[in-house]
Amino acid sequence: MDPIRIAIVGVGKIARDQHIPAINGNSAFSLAATVSPHHHGPEGIPHFASLEDLIENGPAVDAVALCTPPQVRYDLAALALAKGMHVFLEKPPGATLAEVAALESRANKVGATLFASWHSRFAAGVAPARAWLAERTVKSAKIIWREDVRVWHPGQAWIWEPGGLGVFDPGINALSIATHILPRPFFLRTATLEIPANRAAPIAADIEFRDTAGATIHMDLDWRQTGPQSWDIIVETDAGTLKLSQGGAVLTLPTGTEHNEDMEYPGLYARFANLIRGGRSDADIAPLRLVADAFLRGNRQTVEAFHD
Ligand code: NAP
Repeated sequence: MDPIRIAIVGVGKIARDQHIPAINGNSAFSLAATVSPHHHGPEGIPHFASLEDLIENGPAVDAVALCTPPQVRYDLAALALAKGMHVFLEKPPGATLAEVAALESRANKVGATLFASWHSRFAAGVAPARAWLAERTVKSAKIIWREDVRVWHPGQAWIWEPGGLGVFDPGINALSIATHILPRPFFLRTATLEIPANRAAPIAADIEFRDTAGATIHMDLDWRQTGPQSWDIIVETDAGTLKLSQGGAVLTLPTGTEHNEDMEYPGLYARFANLIRGGRSDADIAPLRLVADAFLRGNRQTVEAFHD
């Protein structure tokens, strides 16, 4: 079977760190081109300043991976679908819920694959955590996602703009795991969003969710963390405590701890290839819906200005 010719759109941090190595490591794909206004991709791969330029002047491509900030993703995805290309959306899949729904119906109409990727769902501990929880009764859960924004997002102005999500940019990764492993649906009850006086997006958030059986899920997000960083989900059940740490990589059950190899982006590209070969889409918006609800129902507090 011929490899799927794919172009990366948006040659930034995640494209360089994860997408290019994952595509190079998967024989179902060949990297046909890169697109980015300023930064080039690997030596020898045709590069274009815009998707329009690639479409007019570049090699044929079957698929695009959109690794841009979310605010520009819809226009790029709509253009790619209009040309019959399959589309891999980095997380979050869009800047609004309605634009993702519009893309999904467009993809169905043109018979192309739309994949809203959630890389944290492919972290090593997540699938076994989901299987273990499926057999248990959840009593409560805690999500603690505290990191230093200056270390992880230096100079990323888009992340502080409307649609950039602020601290929910990493927080949505936790929600992509929680919506995948917790057996019952859950929804927001209260939220406080702390927004720096000079920014449009929150630097911290404290949220209480409740599931359909009444169990409480508390989420603590903070970008002002220095020292040890936390990307932990702790679930209390009728059979003891489950802990996912290091963003889902390490799973601790009452019987012990499992460390497994990181396969997030290889897992995402294997899934994208399967979806394309099977003529299907996967555009789960559940994590983005919970974030949207936090903005819809959360209480906003202005806090000290933030400077990079
Ligand atoms: P980034 O370093 O700021 O890179 C984004 C790139 O998008 C920029 O380099 C920019 O290219 C390019 N771009 C902007 N507008 C474009 C357009 N209209 N057409 C083509 N390219 C355009 O951001 P990032 O950290 O890689 O994050 C990108 C997305 O991946 C975000 O949604 C983020 O949530 C997600 N993500 C990031 C990480 C991470 O660890 N950083 C992890 C997982 C997922 P130029 O520089 O050439 O102008």
